[in-house]
Amino acid sequence: MSNSQYIHTFTSPDTQDVALYHSLSMDIVYYNPVLVHYTLPMGNLPDNNSPIIQPDIQPEISVMYLLLTDNCNLRCKYCTVQYNLGDTDIKAAPLAKIMNTATIKKSIQLFRKLVPSGKKASITFFGGEPTLNPDGLQTALTEISQVFAQDEIQVFMVSNGTAITGKIADMLVQYQVFPIISIDGWQEIHDQMRIYGNNTGSYQDAIDGYNRLKDTGLSVGISTLVGKHNCEYLPEIVSFFTNELGAFNLGMSLPHVKPEAADIPIEILTPKLIASWETARDNNLYIMQIGKRLKALAEQKPVLRSCPGSSGWSMIRILPDGTITLCENMGLRNKAVLGNINNHPSPEDIINHSETMDWNNRYPYNINGCLACSAISICGGGCPYDAFLKTGSIHNPEQRSCYLSKHLLEWAIWDIYKRVDMSQVTEGLPRFAVPTREQRRGILPRELPYFVSGGMK
Ligand code: SF4
Ligand code: SF4
Repeated sequence: MSNSQYIHTFTSPDTQDVALYHSLSMDIVYYNPVLVHYTLPMGNLPDNNSPIIQPDIQPEISVMYLLLTDNCNLRCKYCTVQYNLGDTDIKAAPLAKIMNTATIKKSIQLFRKLVPSGKKASITFFGGEPTLNPDGLQTALTEISQVFAQDEIQVFMVSNGTAITGKIADMLVQYQVFPIISIDGWQEIHDQMRIYGNNTGSYQDAIDGYNRLKDTGLSVGISTLVGKHNCEYLPEIVSFFTNELGAFNLGMSLPHVKPEAADIPIEILTPKLIASWETARDNNLYIMQIGKRLKALAEQKPVLRSCPGSSGWSMIRILPDGTITLCENMGLRNKAVLGNINNHPSPEDIINHSETMDWNNRYPYNINGCLACSAISICGGGCPYDAFLKTGSIHNPEQRSCYLSKHLLEWAIWDIYKRVDMSQVTEGLPRFAVPTREQRRGILPRELPYFVSGGMK
C-alpha cells in the first residue's frame, strides 16, 4: 500500500498524528504512527502505478452562457474581454457587438435540443455587460420561458451592477433570475480596479444596483476577483459581504494569467483564500470556486472540470455575433470555436465537433503528470484557458490552481481531523480513525445554495 502513487501522507501540524489520503477514493485514515503497526483499511483500492481506468465520459451540454453584448460601460483593469478583443481603448464601443433577436432565439432553441432529457439546464447572461442589452435580455427571458418548463432551467446573470434599472430588476423578478454582481470589496478596494473610462470608481453605482435588486426580494450573489488589490483583506471582505451587504453566496475567482493588472503570487493568495473560506463557512456563506473542491472531498465525489458543468464536457458559450465556443476567452481569440448559430448547426454538429471532444478529454485523470498528485479528484484541472496562455496547450495543468488545490486539500484534511475522536487510537482496537460523513461535511457551510445542493447537476 505504502508505495501506491495514489496514497498520500500528511503529517499533523500540531500533533504526532498522520493522515493517509487516497487520491482516487478520497478515503482518509488518521493514525498515530507510534501505535499503529499493521494494515490500514485502504487495501481494496487502486494501489499501484497502473493508469486510472475511467468510464467513457461523453460530452453532455447542459450549461449555456449568452454574451448579450461585448460592450461594457466599465474599463476594469483586469478585464479579459477587452484584453482578448485587443481593445485597450474603451472608446471602441461603436465596434462593440450586441446580440440580436434572431441569434438569441436560435441559441436558446439549439440549447434546448442539446440538454439531455431529465437534466437540469442553466443559462447565464454574461458579457461585456449584459444589462446594456435590455431588449435582448427581455427577448431571451421570454424565449426561455416558452422553450423550457420552469423546473427544467435555472437562469443566472453576471453583471457589474451599475446599469440595473427598475425595468431590469422587474424582469429578473418575473423570470426568477439569480443575479450575481461583481464587487471586489469595500469602496477603496473596488475602485482600484473596477473603474469607468474616465478613471472614476464604480463602487457606489454597483452598490446601488445591488441594493435595487435586493430590495425586490431577490437572492443576490457577489462575484469577487481576488488579486493584489484585495488579497490582504479577503477574510474581512467576506465578513463585510455577509454582515453589511447580506450576500446570498459568493464567487472568488483567481485573475486570469493575462492581463496582469491584479496579479499576485499564489503563495500569498492561498492562505488568505483559506482564511476567507473559514470566515465564510462560519457565516454559512458558500464560496463557489473553493466550495466546488471541498464539496468533492466532503462527499467523495470527484470533480473533473474547473469550467462550469459536470463530468462530461457541459458548456457552450455564445458570443454576440452568434459564434459558438467552449470558452468566451478562447472564442474571442477565435479558438475553441464550434461554428456560428446563424449557420444553423445541429446538436450533433456541436456534440461531435472535434473541439468539443478535445476539451471533453481534458480532465485531471487524463493529464500527464497529474496521476501522482494528491489533489487529482478535487482540483478540476484548473482553467484550460489559463493553461493555454501559460503553456500553449489546454492539456496541461495550471500551476496556480494546482498550488491552491493541494493546500486546500491539506487544510481540509486537518480541519476534518479536529472533529475526529483520536482518543480511540490506543493500544487497543481500533488503531486508526476514519472520519464519518458528518465529520467530513464539517468543512462546508451548514447549508449550501439551492443551485449547488438541489437539482442542479
Ligand atoms: S477555460 Fe477558464 S475562462 Fe474559459 S470557461 Fe473554463 S474556467 Fe472559464
Ligand atoms: S491539475 Fe494540478 S492539482 Fe490537478 S491533478 Fe493535475 S497537478 Fe494536481
